Amino acid sequence: AFHGSPAYSKLLLISTTLSGGGLLAYADSQSDVGGSIEESPKKRVVVLGTGWAGTSFLKDLDASKYDVQVVSPQNYFSFTPLLPSVTCGSVEARSIVEPVRNIVKKRKGEIKFWEAECFKIDAANKKVFCQSHVDNNLVGNREFSLEYDYLVIAMGAQVNTFNTPGVKENCHFLKEVEDAQKIRRSVIDCFEMAVIPSLSEEERRRNLHFVIVGGGPTGVEFAAELHDFFEEDLVNLYPSVKDLVKISVIQSGDHILNAFDERISLFAEQKFLRDGIDVYTGCRVVSVSDKEIEMKVKSTGESCSMPHGLIVWSTGIMTRPVVKDFMEQIGQGSRRILATDEWLQVKGAQNVYAIGDCATIDQRKIMEDIATIFKAADKDNSGTLTVAEFQDVLDDILIRYPQVEIFLRSKHLRDVKDLLRDSQGHENEIDIEGFKSALSHADTQMKNLPATAQVAAQQGAYLSRCFNRREHCTENPEGPRHFKSSGRHQFLPFRYKHLGQFAPLGGEQAAAELPGDWVSMGHSTQWLWYSVYASKQVSWRTRYLVVSDWTRKFIFGRDSSRI
Ligand code: FAD
Repeated sequence: AFHGSPAYSKLLLISTTLSGGGLLAYADSQSDVGGSIEESPKKRVVVLGTGWAGTSFLKDLDASKYDVQVVSPQNYFSFTPLLPSVTCGSVEARSIVEPVRNIVKKRKGEIKFWEAECFKIDAANKKVFCQSHVDNNLVGNREFSLEYDYLVIAMGAQVNTFNTPGVKENCHFLKEVEDAQKIRRSVIDCFEMAVIPSLSEEERRRNLHFVIVGGGPTGVEFAAELHDFFEEDLVNLYPSVKDLVKISVIQSGDHILNAFDERISLFAEQKFLRDGIDVYTGCRVVSVSDKEIEMKVKSTGESCSMPHGLIVWSTGIMTRPVVKDFMEQIGQGSRRILATDEWLQVKGAQNVYAIGDCATIDQRKIMEDIATIFKAADKDNSGTLTVAEFQDVLDDILIRYPQVEIFLRSKHLRDVKDLLRDSQGHENEIDIEGFKSALSHADTQMKNLPATAQVAAQQGAYLSRCFNRREHCTENPEGPRHFKSSGRHQFLPFRYKHLGQFAPLGGEQAAAELPGDWVSMGHSTQWLWYSVYASKQVSWRTRYLVVSDWTRKFIFGRDSSRI
């Protein structure tokens, strides 16, 4: 069934078929640390990162126009939305990764790829310093530097532990393919250990207590996957301990999936209740040891602790140290996330762009523009608008700034939206200041687009279009006709188009929010999930592998070998 309404967090994916496109020759410009740079007739573009943002940029870039070099510690692209499926063997790790060299080779031209980590960006000298981490006894200097004319930072972000003691040492994360593989092995370890004859019942229970910290889409999907793995496969393989297994989700907010529509949160909570998954809301984890997890109930301040066998920490992301160091160099040291303008150019650094999870568009200007739009609409200066006028203003804002839709989903604004829905006679008046203050409550959300693959891929594609047109724009500095009057910028600013979001809930059920405020929940949505995720695979090879993994799971179940 479909129901109308709002909210967000785990998104329908992006179109990223990594084939086609036209890339041609390039000129060499690599240097050793301290060595000299070969002159290149083309502008040098250095791309840091091969995740959603970096790959999407490379996929559409016309490399014949530039000398392109890519640096990333992973020589593959991974389809992160299927990582939770890898943790329980519903999908194999190799089915969701595509080698970067495959991706760049498919282009007509050549793009250089270096498997290394950038450890310093020198903004003043337009240089990046990198180090290879290939892990064996191979000879040679692992450090090198690259000079750039344009730098594209697409390094993503790292897990945020909020400095909680014991988290790094005792928790699993679910960010990379290796993390998912480790979790898969550890889950099996917990079961194999729990059936060893010398254990007491209390020890067995402890080993079979799986705790997920963070009730966002990743944590919820992992809990659901684990529950299915247990119910569909492990229960038959470890019958003696089947009644001792427990899955708990700890969430600091009032509800799990709280960035989704309320109905989806409730549906998920009820489903988890039926499935026997314990959900602890309003609790903050204060420390973790190898045996216990300690948390505080936010409303009462009471502390309690739980024994655990395995913890997956999935509470959010933060800026990587190398990006933080760069932010300090360019005067953004006081910020939490690297800020760009609406054209994705880093504020305070020339010819440096940042896309994906590592950056955020500074949206303060949008707030100012919204205030101006309201002022213009309030012709009699009464401080109120009729519902009809208000609706017009809102439509105008949404056309100019589609991303504002996300913020309108904030709970603070529900009252306003309800009023709009109820006032069909258009008799009520809406207090502008009230609305603006509600909007400012949502201000923290206003500043950031969600950190999702959907945003990252759209930014990468947008930036490559700008790069492809740069030469043309330099030759025609007045830009497209509709920009001549303002003369402000050669390109349209980046506009995010939200395509919807999914939350798989296990038991072949999922929830989805689709464009146009549609909400869909249940078994049919799970089939929609399968088709969308199959269609969004990065290559025909991975599409084939993922679909055959799903088929294998349906026929033979999941593989519980610990390899
Ligand atoms: P990433 O994809 O993280 O890529 C960062 C790249 O930078 C990597 O190639 C990395 O190797 C490289 N790198 C790191 N450090 C360095 C360095 N020092 N030098 C050079 N390169 C470096 N989003 C959705 O829209 N829908 C979903 O369903 C969804 N599900 C998710 C499930 C999970 C489990 C996770 C973890 C995320 C999910 N996301 C989802 C979020 C999505 O994966 C991220 O928003 C997206 O990956 C961000 O893209 P990115 O390119 O900015 O960063």
